[in-house]
Amino acid sequence: MTALGHPQFLVQFSEVLVKWRCFFGFLTAKLGKDDREVLEQKLDLEQMQALLTKLGAEGDIRSWFASEKLHSSSTIDILDWNRLIDDRTKVPHLLVVPNLQTECLEPLLSKFAEEEEQQMKRMLQRLEVLAKCAVENRVRLMVDAEQTYFQPAINWLTLVMQRIFNTDHPIVFNTYQCYLKEAFDNVCMDVELSRREGWCFGAKLVRGAYLDQERSRAEEIGYEDPINPDYETTNCMYHRCLDHVLEEIERNRKANVMVASHNTDTVKHTLRRMEEMGLAPTDKKVYFGQLLGMCDQISFPLGQAGFPVYKYVPYGPISEVIPYLSRRVQENRGVMKGAQAERELLWTELIRRVTSAEIFYTHTL
Ligand SMILES: Cc1cc2nc3c(=O)[nH]c(=O)nc-3n(C[C@H](O)[C@H](O)[C@H](O)COP(=O)(O)OP(=O)(O)OC[C@H]3O[C@@H](n4cnc5c(N)ncnc54)[C@H](O)[C@@H]3O)c2cc1C
Repeated sequence: MTALGHPQFLVQFSEVLVKWRCFFGFLTAKLGKDDREVLEQKLDLEQMQALLTKLGAEGDIRSWFASEKLHSSSTIDILDWNRLIDDRTKVPHLLVVPNLQTECLEPLLSKFAEEEEQQMKRMLQRLEVLAKCAVENRVRLMVDAEQTYFQPAINWLTLVMQRIFNTDHPIVFNTYQCYLKEAFDNVCMDVELSRREGWCFGAKLVRGAYLDQERSRAEEIGYEDPINPDYETTNCMYHRCLDHVLEEIERNRKANVMVASHNTDTVKHTLRRMEEMGLAPTDKKVYFGQLLGMCDQISFPLGQAGFPVYKYVPYGPISEVIPYLSRRVQENRGVMKGAQAERELLWTELIRRVTSAEIFYTHTL
């Protein structure tokens, strides 16, 4: 997504979205609801009115929410709350947030500046061109996840496209990085949103590629590290998110997931869960993805067993692609283990061919 517009705009818009989400967190904490799962944190409209009036908000806060759009008529959850920012052009005066030091309300943004509105419009137009192209060519469009300071805006723009294009089946897939502490919440919220709004959920699940960068930025600027404390926690998070999406597929056969990983335990976990749920490879609800040139020993058997498998092809100038690939190799434990396994397989095959005098192997389909 950072190639489709000014990255700085994504940063600015992400900050707005994060502040808005923190405002909800602030209210749930004040009302003692913050110890529950994200979708269970519900604010009573009357209590919220009283609290916001105390903080200096003017007018009837209940009128912020058109009751016919609310999930439940007397309470607000995070998805109802986020809808206000979706409707921001209609209700710009609503965009206030508490100053966490003074606890007074202050404007979040009176309105996007003309230039930012244009940026947003252009990015959405470019995305739409890509999504239409995907529909015409009967392929899917997977939006990569990037650094956390871009991600809320990327997620928001992707959701706009999913609402438009994922009507019959998932065309646009969002990516969830399971090294993030908030990954499970993000997956749960978007699954629930797709249910409420009636579009088809499509996700690519990855562990996440910017670990070092995220940690050093958090330390440098002085905010909480957004990444799980260790590799094992990331593994648990991946499987938790995957199980949730697989359950959604079991419930609504229109949802799809791509397991984008080089990790054999994750692939085995997916196959086991699919078998338990009676999901066949040929149902084409669960895809697998590995980078081209990496972990063929995972991709090929999956493909031969009838699973839809994709090889990601990094495409671009060599000066950008080579650093990208070398970062992947550094980060991917799976790839390094995989490379060793691949070398052993190649040795075994070479020895087999030499000893059976079958140097050139012909494979008949
Ligand atoms: C098809 C495909 C698409 C991809 N798309 C994206 C994308 O859109 N966005 C993106 O960010 N990445 C993307 N990636 C890269 C991905 O996020 C991982 O970096 C890479 O796949 C390595 O993870 P793994 O699951 O293959 O296996 P493994 O080698 O088992 O896992 C390595 C990963 O575990 C995590 N990890 C390692 N150590 C720690 C630690 N100490 N604490 C917490 N977590 C840790 C890191 O995420 C690291 O990359 C993609 C990968 C593939 C194969």
